[in-house]
Amino acid sequence: MIAVTTIAALREVLAPTRGGRIGVVPTMGNLHEGHLDLVRAARAECDTVVMTIFVNPTQFEDAADLERYPRTVEHDLALAEANGVDVVFLPGVEEMYPDGFATTVSVDGAITEVLEGAVRGRAHFDGVATVVAKLLLAVLADVAYFGAKDAQQVVVVTRMVADLGIPTRIAVVPTARDADGLALSSRNARLTAEERARALAVPRALAAIADASTRERDAAALLAIGRATLAGLDVEYLEIVDPDALTTLTTLEGAALVVVAVRVGATRLIDNVTIPRRSDP
Ligand code: AMP
Repeated sequence: MIAVTTIAALREVLAPTRGGRIGVVPTMGNLHEGHLDLVRAARAECDTVVMTIFVNPTQFEDAADLERYPRTVEHDLALAEANGVDVVFLPGVEEMYPDGFATTVSVDGAITEVLEGAVRGRAHFDGVATVVAKLLLAVLADVAYFGAKDAQQVVVVTRMVADLGIPTRIAVVPTARDADGLALSSRNARLTAEERARALAVPRALAAIADASTRERDAAALLAIGRATLAGLDVEYLEIVDPDALTTLTTLEGAALVVVAVRVGATRLIDNVTIPRRSDP
């Protein structure tokens, strides 16, 4: 495995591999099995697997959250190597945003205004779209692997890649969960045992909604079931939306995406589940 810190060095290392298929896994590090699922998907489909590790300051609206974000580079490099990553790109902030940096990639419309965009503010998805555009252009991979856990991020990145004509296919990998159902997240490490026990209401609420959706198509009725399960938690949003447009659904007809964000103590958690289109009898 080769680790590089500049875009120039990355291009040089990748040049001889361009005949084969290149896959990239963008991350903010502090790797867990969710990230490794993305690596395994890339490894299964690509000749060369690139991982990027960059804690992107521009997508954090909260300076304390950025400060506290876990940085575990040695552990990440060991896991990346053990799981078959060929090249790790670890840029510093000054490599990604050199003096004079003045460009923002901003995806307009409901897909960035609702849910995470509403809670975290406009700058969040501007930060995500700009850094992902820059990373995808640096690697010019055939395929980029993203987690279904960040469902809105997938919608925004897919739109951005189509709009800018970036020649990289976006592949989505299912959410990895702990045995108790909690979606793996770098932020889970901050939960106390008591908070973690309370956080389990999140996957339970999603499962209860998915389960009830086999007999109930009214979104309000499904959300009431989810809210009952989440009682006592600080819920930022619980919504049932169109999986592509992210618009609110009142009735489940086609596929639906159930999205939730909660705060447990000082930790913010998001999760989602897709309800497939129910085939009519
Ligand atoms: P992050 O390092 O949190 O920015 O995540 C990097 C990539 O890993 C993103 O595409 C995430 O959606 C994905 N990811 C994070 N957690 C999980 C998970 N539990 N299962 C699958 N993918 C995940």
